[in-house]
Amino acid sequence: MTKLRLKLIPLGGLGEIGKNMMVMEYEDDIIIIDAGLMFPEEEMLGIDLVIPDINYLLEKREKIRGIIITHGHEDHVGALPYLLPQLDVPVYSTKLTQGLISVKLKERKALSEAKLMVIPPGGQFTLGKFRVEFFPVCHSIPDAVGLIIYTPIGIIVHSGDFKLDYTPVSGKPTDLSRLAQLGAQGVLLLLSDSTYAELLGYTPSERVVGETLDHIMADAPGRVIVTTFSSLVSRIQQVIDSAAKHQRRVFIVGRSMSDTARMALELGYLNDPDGVLARLDELKGMPRNKVVFITTGSQGEPTSALVRMANRDHRQVHILRGDTIVISATPIPGNEGLINRTVDNLFKQGAQVLYGKVAPVHVHGHGSQEELKLLLNLVKPKFFVPIHGEYRHLSLHAKLAQSVGIPEDNTFILEDGDILEISPQWGKITGKVTSGNVYVDGLSVGDIGSVVLRNRRMLSRDGIVVVIIAVNKQTGKLVGRPDIVSRGFVDTRESRDMLDESRDLVARILDHSGDRPAEWSFVNTKVRDTLNKFYYEQTKRRPMILPFMVTV
Ligand SMILES: [Zn+2]
Ligand SMILES: [Zn+2]
Repeated sequence: MTKLRLKLIPLGGLGEIGKNMMVMEYEDDIIIIDAGLMFPEEEMLGIDLVIPDINYLLEKREKIRGIIITHGHEDHVGALPYLLPQLDVPVYSTKLTQGLISVKLKERKALSEAKLMVIPPGGQFTLGKFRVEFFPVCHSIPDAVGLIIYTPIGIIVHSGDFKLDYTPVSGKPTDLSRLAQLGAQGVLLLLSDSTYAELLGYTPSERVVGETLDHIMADAPGRVIVTTFSSLVSRIQQVIDSAAKHQRRVFIVGRSMSDTARMALELGYLNDPDGVLARLDELKGMPRNKVVFITTGSQGEPTSALVRMANRDHRQVHILRGDTIVISATPIPGNEGLINRTVDNLFKQGAQVLYGKVAPVHVHGHGSQEELKLLLNLVKPKFFVPIHGEYRHLSLHAKLAQSVGIPEDNTFILEDGDILEISPQWGKITGKVTSGNVYVDGLSVGDIGSVVLRNRRMLSRDGIVVVIIAVNKQTGKLVGRPDIVSRGFVDTRESRDMLDESRDLVARILDHSGDRPAEWSFVNTKVRDTLNKFYYEQTKRRPMILPFMVTV
């Protein structure tokens, strides 16, 4: 009986928002749930995105039976283009999710080797000793599912991202009756979404946004520009429906939005019954109050269409006085500054801007406290692990579980890398595996380490000083005074005396050690140490110091 043990190992998404990845291991079988990315925080300079460290999985590659994706959001699929080529295992998802994954894989030319399996909501499939069933959940993207996982030690329910909207725009409401059935049967472990565990009450229905959009389309004196996530297919649908009611045509601007919309139309997740979608070349001559644009840029992403419009840098669309701009998205933490600057720029150009703080133009896709409690009550699990959230979200969710009667000892707050072992009778955190962030910077994956980030931080804060030292080729002796060039360190005019003094200082220390041809590494260190100390005394700053030797 001692063999009846299952390991649960989160490699991302626990203790943070984003890069969700959960590993389940039973004897010789491993399944992976989700493979997401995280957008960088402000101090991760120049990093485009962050994905989970999968060293643990690479060591056990032959045991991995597949990756199961709950839905098509970036924090659940975004790492696939980088990780799939390394793991080379089949990926299981619903149809729309597969469509979104294909768009992503194609962008990185990783589509042709991928084995993508489509399973409908309600469908089942077997991976080693795990049998997995998809159940529909309502979320801010159609075709989202939670997982019922039948394992040799009992039933595990994984909620995916969910809320309990009974009148969703597209897709099905969360299948509560199936969950209640399972609850009656007996569920060993529930893993449930904690993203909005801080919020009291219920999350409002998507319908609220539809009503707001109707008012906007009716009243806006000029063009309406709606920006949202390209994956928020149901929001795009709401814009199309509302535009149709008010005899407006809809133009999709930007590549990622167009790609997603085309795919969703082909697969039938997006419908345009009145033919309001139009091509940009049809725009000419159309009255402004008959025009709607949909575009990306809700996060203030510098290369997005909206930000380029806000900065008068978009080829096709310029902001006009009288435009109404609707930002239909929640700011991802860390992006607030970028978004606020974009909103300011839009106002400056005479546009009206509507965003979450001033109008109900967005509802988020995660359950609030009462919904989380309802799920716990229906599923009635023996053990509970809150997932998807920062530590405070997980803690609050654990408290909610206790409030509905799950013993504290049966509730486990895990962080990335923790190993939770569970048997039918007990659960215990038994160790830790390697986990963490892998940084993706442009085209390179993983070779940006913390040293590079530290350097970038140093450069951004204290600037750089380049010291050019000319040395005689034969004698190795210093020729003239060293040159010093600085950027972002001090005002070079105001601090000319201080910089001059530092040139003398370098000359002096090099003369000292200069009766033999100097070893470069020695000179390098000596110059750096001396200037570090001197500049810090003078300015309390630590610029990056780069000595260069030229032989003449
Ligand atoms: Zn999601
Ligand atoms: Zn998520």
